[in-house]
Amino acid sequence: MIHFVGAGPGAPDLITLRGAEHLKQADVVIYAGSLVNPALLGLCREDCAIYNSAEMTLEQVMDRMQSAEALGKTTVRLHTGDPSIYGAVREQMDLLDEAGIAYDCCPGVSAFGGAAAALRMEYTLPGISQSVVITRMAGRTPVPERESIRSFAAHQATMVLFLSVGLIEQLQRELMAGGYDPETPAAIVYKATWPDEKALRCRVCELAKTAQANDVKKTALILVGGFLGDHYERSKLYDPGFSTGYRGARP
Ligand code: SAH
Repeated sequence: MIHFVGAGPGAPDLITLRGAEHLKQADVVIYAGSLVNPALLGLCREDCAIYNSAEMTLEQVMDRMQSAEALGKTTVRLHTGDPSIYGAVREQMDLLDEAGIAYDCCPGVSAFGGAAAALRMEYTLPGISQSVVITRMAGRTPVPERESIRSFAAHQATMVLFLSVGLIEQLQRELMAGGYDPETPAAIVYKATWPDEKALRCRVCELAKTAQANDVKKTALILVGGFLGDHYERSKLYDPGFSTGYRGARP
């Protein structure tokens, strides 16, 4: 059996109880060493075989999983954040399906949740934005043209950009070319939930300057939108004049 497990964004106590239990039981752990906090490996049994997938190819990961499986062992494939966001898990699952190997998935706290917590902010505010666009700049991994930053920027929704801090000058230009006012509030969150976390607020026109001034070159999210500002409408859900299935309206 293979368990795909989300490790969370960094702080070791942000893994789920289920994920921690899988780690404690595992015979083999293959972890994404570029971002997973190695402190989590302290949960593993002493005789657990541990491999860092940052030094491996997909084929090598599959070899490890298959040989563990042939010996009836349990493997944890530990991914950073939540495995469903830029996790490269689908290609592993498809190969496991082909090989007839069973697997399941244990979700994790994604970095975008960690970043909102670092800023003490809410992505969806009434009257401001009710949508979150999770995307990235095209880099060595291309992004379909219809998903360009410019086209998303036109919506003025909350934007969360993964894997893009290395291209932040270009990103800043694209956000403004797509329609964000240069004064739109923005933030860069470096290593959310790690001890050396940095949560930097700025405006869209200052994104590149802010990253440079704070020496942020990787492991960061870029957040853009009015949700970082001061104005919003209060919720209907907790409005005394609004009735819900749990509570009647009061005059
Ligand atoms: N599956 C992960 C994302 C993997 S892609 C998740 O759900 O969070 C790797 C990118 O995620 C990094 O380049 C960076 O943009 C972002 N990232 C991962 N951990 C982060 C953290 N603790 N703080 C800020 N950004 C992070």
